[in-house]
Amino acid sequence: MLKIENLHARVAGKDILKGLSLEVKAGEVHAIMGPNGAGKSTLGNILAGREGYEVVEGSVTLEGLDLLALEPEERAAAGVFLAFQYPVEIPGVNNTYFLRAALNAQRKARGEAELDSMQFLKLVREKLAVLHLKDELLHRGVNEGFSGGEKKRNEIFQLALLEPKLAILDETDSGLDIDALKAVADGVNLMRSAKRAFLVITHYQRLLDYIKPDLVHVLADGRIVESGGPELALELEAHGYAWVKDRIAPGA
Ligand code: ADP
Ligand code: MG
Ligand code: MG
Repeated sequence: MLKIENLHARVAGKDILKGLSLEVKAGEVHAIMGPNGAGKSTLGNILAGREGYEVVEGSVTLEGLDLLALEPEERAAAGVFLAFQYPVEIPGVNNTYFLRAALNAQRKARGEAELDSMQFLKLVREKLAVLHLKDELLHRGVNEGFSGGEKKRNEIFQLALLEPKLAILDETDSGLDIDALKAVADGVNLMRSAKRAFLVITHYQRLLDYIKPDLVHVLADGRIVESGGPELALELEAHGYAWVKDRIAPGA
């Protein structure tokens, strides 16, 4: 589904990704772990097409489609989902309205009919039921006063509505509480599907107590330096990232 080959990228004139290659098959969940500043969030932002990231070499395809040639909206329409790491608050703009606009923008880009408010509400009710979520977040302003856990629930709800092919979840390095972690994990587990791939970016192992990844990759100094099964995450938990330094070529 996702194929990244020899990706090199710069942020603010600085080389961050230095030859990153990664392949994720449909139906799989891959965890990306690694020390602070390794380039994990940069990778997610580049896949989504966020501004400010300069790809200098390499290729990224989604089901054979050249993602790097597409605008961010086109990537979203093609099925790439990246939750906002620092979601904007839009007080006064109803969250339901915002989500419907996001969904309809994608449907329009795909040449599908837009949903009217009745159709959208029906879909919302279905998704809330599947995710066992309450509808309280929908009636508030976009992210207005949302706690960390509520933002994560909203993120999972967006994911369920948009039904992406590639879902990228960046859990950031800041501590999410256990409820937020569980909300993310439950959502991922419920949304796992043979038609969908997940990249779960996390600095800490604890999220992977709840999401069992098919593969775990360690990103360090802009490259994948180690890949393995879920046991790799436990090793990292036990031994930290210090050993990673040995994997980084001198002068790299
Ligand atoms: P991680 O998510 O693995 O902690 P990041 O991808 O956030 O790492 O950051 C990788 C490196 O890129 C860091 O040195 C960081 O300071 C730098 N960086 C990321 N985004 C920006 C930006 N917008 N402007 C300048 N430097 C950035
Ligand atoms: Mg960081
Ligand atoms: Mg990060």
